Amino acid sequence: MESNPLLQHWETPYGLPPFDRIRPEHFKPALDTAMSRHREEIETIAGDSAPATFENTVAALDRSGEAMRSVALLFSNLTASETSDELQAVERELAPVIASHRNWITLHKGLFARIDRLYAERHNLQLGAEQLRLLERLHLQFVRAGAQLKGEDRTRFAGITEELASLYTDFSQAVLADEAEFTLRLETEADRAGLPEFVLDAAASVAAEKGFDGYAFNLSPSLVDPFLTYSTRRDLREKVWKAYKARGQANPERDTRPTAARIVQLRAELARIMGYATYAEYALDDRMAKTPAAVLELLEKVWEPAKARAAEEQKHLEDAARTAGAPGTIEGWDWHFWAERVRRERYNLDESELKPYFQLDRMLEAMFECANRLYGIVFTEVHDVPLYHPDVRLFEVREEASGGIVGIYISDNFARATKRGGAWMSEYREQARNRDGYRYPIIANNNNFAKAANGRPTLLSFDNVRTLFHEFGHALHGLLSDVTYVRLSGTNVLRDFVELPSQMHENWAFEPGVLKKHARHAETGEPISDELIERIRAARQFNQGFRTVEYTACALVDMALHGARAAGDSQGLHGARGADTSQGLHGAPATDTSQGRAGREETAGDATAVDRARAADTPPAPDIAAFEKSECRRLGVPPAIGLRHRLSHFRHLFSTSGYAAGYYVYMWAEVLEADAFEAFIDSGDVFSRDLASRFRECVLSAGDSVDPAEAYRCFRGRDPRLEPMLRKRGLIAGE
Ligand SMILES: [Zn+2]
Repeated sequence: MESNPLLQHWETPYGLPPFDRIRPEHFKPALDTAMSRHREEIETIAGDSAPATFENTVAALDRSGEAMRSVALLFSNLTASETSDELQAVERELAPVIASHRNWITLHKGLFARIDRLYAERHNLQLGAEQLRLLERLHLQFVRAGAQLKGEDRTRFAGITEELASLYTDFSQAVLADEAEFTLRLETEADRAGLPEFVLDAAASVAAEKGFDGYAFNLSPSLVDPFLTYSTRRDLREKVWKAYKARGQANPERDTRPTAARIVQLRAELARIMGYATYAEYALDDRMAKTPAAVLELLEKVWEPAKARAAEEQKHLEDAARTAGAPGTIEGWDWHFWAERVRRERYNLDESELKPYFQLDRMLEAMFECANRLYGIVFTEVHDVPLYHPDVRLFEVREEASGGIVGIYISDNFARATKRGGAWMSEYREQARNRDGYRYPIIANNNNFAKAANGRPTLLSFDNVRTLFHEFGHALHGLLSDVTYVRLSGTNVLRDFVELPSQMHENWAFEPGVLKKHARHAETGEPISDELIERIRAARQFNQGFRTVEYTACALVDMALHGARAAGDSQGLHGARGADTSQGLHGAPATDTSQGRAGREETAGDATAVDRARAADTPPAPDIAAFEKSECRRLGVPPAIGLRHRLSHFRHLFSTSGYAAGYYVYMWAEVLEADAFEAFIDSGDVFSRDLASRFRECVLSAGDSVDPAEAYRCFRGRDPRLEPMLRKRGLIAGE
């Protein structure tokens, strides 16, 4: 194993992973070694004969597992951005092993005893604010991970989290397979009717990737949206839309719904073990919102006005369709198409006329310039550093004033069959001062833009530009982090606070000065006209009824699925899961479930008598299909809109635990964002250095070293108000 580069010191620029030398088979031995080293470190901390101090316990724990963290971060980045059959096989094998290692730490009795003792004395330890925060967060993390559980509960808790980890992997892989496998070949001119050149370019790339000439579509969201928007072939739109909405349930052999049902069931059991009535209550206890009631209050304030707004929008679309001589009914596969027509007419905005102005490379420059004006940092591209794919780019980020390095930014923008869908920010290394070696972070952004063929510039829709700025906001949160402890670094904040920086930075994409300079026509080089900019800004509220409904419906379904019920529902907010069953969680009895999942149940042959006895009070698994249907009926989700993510492919909920009972977080953060950006608007300078410095200091640099409500008050001088968000979405009058 001496040739395993992951096990050697990474002698690379910036301490990057040795991308050019890594092979899938390196991961398992590397993780095994890193994990056993980590276990030794933990045993040393826990077995220390000296009494527990902040330094020898909390700081030491924060510092431990450095190699493990590097390899695990690298692994999760590669499985998301550049996976392969081999890597997926390793992923299936290692996901439960990594989960079990994490459990071993949080369930380590000796370690927790030391943390618990310090926690009890925390106000007498003369700790600094960040130290106190670390101790409190760590203690809570251990408690939530089951450290205080005893006996059977303790064993069962570990069993649940390990099973969940494998289920998350199963779910993600099945959805990805459905997206990649679907193929719609556009053989004739008539099949391609209405599709602009940039869409056809993308379709040509997909065809080439699948190994044939001509044009083809798969189910990558970055392709589906434009197809539904432009194709004049209603029959093909219907085909694509239906396939898109059937991801996760199209192939009986990899139907994700039993997996999702089992996940929900296990979460309910876990919450019960932890002393909560529902998983939603358990999840919300560690969020800024704190209770399901607070979340539902927000969502419900939005839901009815959004539906009313969407109904008006639908009427406009129906009118437009009738005027054009088409049937006046709007189905799911018609909405994008007619919305684009109405938008074009009303704002005189033609997406394909706009698109040449938004070249990916120029928009990256625009983004970097905004960061420079706001925070005084500079992005410089570095070539000839080995990365994992030729399309990936790397930038050094430095302070303009001092020249000091801030971090490394990796930019990976194109869709590939080997990359999962969506857009995200992730870390290869997190910022922390409590560490030997590199202290600055390595942060990555991934997008799934369709790469233009033949070396032509890749053009973005304005929505893509927003996504770019959004993910960049997350990246800045990671890059500008300035804390001592890695556990509190960057985006390791509470889940409903984490979308504040990202949504905040979308605002700067709309700034006329920024667009004027960087939005230049790909062929003529002409800057975008003032008038076009004005129209983009005016169109900002267009279709917001649709967007708010498709999003909020998902957020409400998520809350209901995890046990929170809407006010007015007979169960009230805190209905215990068992009692909810008849209300729409038409769950099969636990015994049926285990038969249905015979494979998994059998391989878990070490299930003890205790496990089987406990299964009796395991809440029933919901029937996912029936639940989705009854919730949509209960909420009155307009059929022409539906759910943005149906449960069979709702990755937020079933690929990880982070967004379970947490899809609402985007809107929660948007309340903060809209209120925060109003400070910039009210100052008369959206690039106000004063405000930006305060935002950097109070929010971006602070990570989780301060309570989020406090961080917000530090920036704004008061608590957030709801109205700016409602106004921004056009759900109340104003602006
Ligand atoms: Zn985000």
